[in-house]
Amino acid sequence: MVDGMWVDSPNKVKKEFLDHFRNRFCKPGERKATLQMEFPKQIHPDQQRELESEVTNEEIKKAVWECGTDKAPGPDGFTFGFFRHFWYLVEREVYDAVRYFFIHNDIPKGCNSSFIALIPKIPDANLVKDFRPISLIGSIYKIIAKILTNRLVGVLGGIVNEEQFAFIADRQILDGPFILNEVFQWCKRKKTLIFKVDFEKAYDSVRWDFLDDVLSKFGFGNKWRKWIQCCLHSSRGSIIINGSPTEEFQFGKGLKQGDLLSPFLFILIMKSLHLSFQRVVDEGMFHGINLGGLVNLSHIFYVNDAVFVGQWSESNISTLVHVLECFHRVSGLKINMSKSKIMGIHVDNVNVSRAANKLGCLLLKTPFLYLGSFVGGAMHRLQAWNDIVDRVRRRLSKWKMKMLSIGGRHTLVKSVLGSMPIFHMSMFKVPSGILRTLESIRCQFFNGHDVSSKKASWVQWNKVLAPKDKGGLGVSSLYALNRGLMFKWVWRFLTQDTSLWARVIKVIHGGDSNIGTGTRSGTKSCWTNIVNEINVLSKKDINLMNFLRIKLGNGESTLFWEDVWCEGGKLKDRFPRAYALESCKTITVGSKLVQPNLTYSFRRTPRGGAEQTQTDELAALMQPVTLSPISDRWTWTLNSPGEFSVASVRNLIDVKMVPEGDHKTRWVRYVPIKVNTHAWKVMTNSLPTRFNISRRGIDIDSITCANCDMGVETTSHLFFTCDMAQQVARLITRWWDVPDLEMDSYGSWKIWMVNLRMPSKNKKMLVGVFYVMWWLLWAFRNKKIFEDKAPSKAMFFDDVICKSFYWCCFRSKASFSWNDWLKNPSLISL
Ligand SMILES: [Zn+2]
Repeated sequence: MVDGMWVDSPNKVKKEFLDHFRNRFCKPGERKATLQMEFPKQIHPDQQRELESEVTNEEIKKAVWECGTDKAPGPDGFTFGFFRHFWYLVEREVYDAVRYFFIHNDIPKGCNSSFIALIPKIPDANLVKDFRPISLIGSIYKIIAKILTNRLVGVLGGIVNEEQFAFIADRQILDGPFILNEVFQWCKRKKTLIFKVDFEKAYDSVRWDFLDDVLSKFGFGNKWRKWIQCCLHSSRGSIIINGSPTEEFQFGKGLKQGDLLSPFLFILIMKSLHLSFQRVVDEGMFHGINLGGLVNLSHIFYVNDAVFVGQWSESNISTLVHVLECFHRVSGLKINMSKSKIMGIHVDNVNVSRAANKLGCLLLKTPFLYLGSFVGGAMHRLQAWNDIVDRVRRRLSKWKMKMLSIGGRHTLVKSVLGSMPIFHMSMFKVPSGILRTLESIRCQFFNGHDVSSKKASWVQWNKVLAPKDKGGLGVSSLYALNRGLMFKWVWRFLTQDTSLWARVIKVIHGGDSNIGTGTRSGTKSCWTNIVNEINVLSKKDINLMNFLRIKLGNGESTLFWEDVWCEGGKLKDRFPRAYALESCKTITVGSKLVQPNLTYSFRRTPRGGAEQTQTDELAALMQPVTLSPISDRWTWTLNSPGEFSVASVRNLIDVKMVPEGDHKTRWVRYVPIKVNTHAWKVMTNSLPTRFNISRRGIDIDSITCANCDMGVETTSHLFFTCDMAQQVARLITRWWDVPDLEMDSYGSWKIWMVNLRMPSKNKKMLVGVFYVMWWLLWAFRNKKIFEDKAPSKAMFFDDVICKSFYWCCFRSKASFSWNDWLKNPSLISL
């Protein structure tokens, strides 16, 4: 639609889009202002040389391999799968083409052309602005961009601050929302300003001359800057409309969406805004909020998301607007006032509305979404989670139940929650009512029911959640996931204690931030919930803190008496009488061990008895301790490399929280998930057998076994004592040449199985064969009951052999023939 008129002729549509994008990316006019400040952090001359060093073949090849294989091809039509596959043919040409760029600062015409694909932002997109442009970039340019990016990433960490944590390792997207949530709790009684900025088409409007200025201020060399400028100036694009491209046009500004290099260059742009703003703060023109000590918070950036925080005052607001206006003039980045939002905490509503009117921006209301997470919400209330529960339900219900096997559902239910629920579970304690709701949605999905149905389930959901060695299916509970993700913050607090996030927590909550003690305060912030939850768990005999241990380096940041750094807990608890003599209670391990002896810093020498014994024992304990010239670090003893993992906490909690089953779950990878799950249902008696149905009080015409018409159809009967099951089992034992099987239940079958002498892989396969038999028995029984034509008993055993051969052969990756299988599978070497 153009000017309110429908345009449907293909050529006119094309022209409309072309005009739009040509204008959008046209060369901007002369600059009205330039950057006039020095940047405090610059890259080191060594780094500069490294950035500009000659590009090697290995580097080029590495870049090709890192580009991924399945991305859509650009205008040249080559995917990276193609390059890798025919590498031996194209290697030389690729090296030459890439090197040409690095030597001559030039990209041959056509190599930096891109297709702009239009992704609709809303359903029924009619207007040009309803589409988001994504560039499909030619492969040679992609390789060049990958090389430049790899080099750039290496130096970024040194010049980019905490306030912009995107893309830099260990700086997480959740830090910003977490900090804001804490600030919300903290500033309840202080007048505070929050301003959330929306930049208009941030990537598209970056001025190239500005980017060059920024690079030069950061100390990037001429060669490097020329490379970057060359990448920008050579770029041309055409828009794909209904499958065919428009004529090409030249870009004059902006960073391309879809170009690897763009996000990193954009970080530098935002970094310059950070520096300009920091200077304004330092000169006292903008007052951030002082959280205590040296931690002053004025702004948090994440890619093009910027939030400014400060004291509420007229002058703060006008300074902010002024700074953003200047930034627009130098960089091209314009703020979209009508989409930006302002909020005053503990400020009169009238004042906030007046400020919003004056600026022409919107009011920000709590709770609001920031980087995908809620800020300022009452997350302990059930209503706060409605939206999230709906998302999970929608996500799971969009799968076509009929198209998914139990195996598919098993896999999905373990993985699919979506990023938003995970984000929230990472930060907030999920109320138990919400956990129950989410689990019941997962349970219905797992059983193949509609996710909002109230149908009864034949399996006990907490058995499905239980780890396999506890007789479960290892799906793991959301409770464990939530608590594991929460505890991860404690790990980060200890191991990344200089990060902005950790510093904020420290000044708000005090030095050790109540880890291990918990708080009694009424306000519930994310952090107080986390530290309190540690205590709640320890009352359930899950002591997460016990798995944290300090690995001694130089001993300088570890307290001798009060930290847990050797087996057996805190020394002050183990040797209280010796501790009583210590004159410096907070002495570090490093300082203590360099003293001539242990009693050096004691008030007086020990006077026999317990004092002396404890001192002697302590001395013996210290005998083997040595220091090394690296810093002390935390390790997580639940995982072998010592690195924390959420999975390890989940497993620990699941093991403690779920009821113990009678048997371990034996998972056989030679047969499909659906067959395994079925076998698990046999083991846990979770099938709707006729007996189980009647036991539930549901009317049923008969409870006798349909396969033999003799016994009552219980799980034990159907799979173990029924004539049909016994006959097939006998045939299997002859086929495998193993001792006779006297079975009357799952338990006796298992004992027989455990006692068999056979290589373990073959035994697994035999277990698999039984699983297949049970699977087929159940299918046989269903056919007999629900279909008119009775299936043939004579073919049953053949079916077991065929099906199990098909699965085992395909899944074991061992090569054996149909004949080997028929003769005796226990002799096959796997
Ligand atoms: Zn029977």
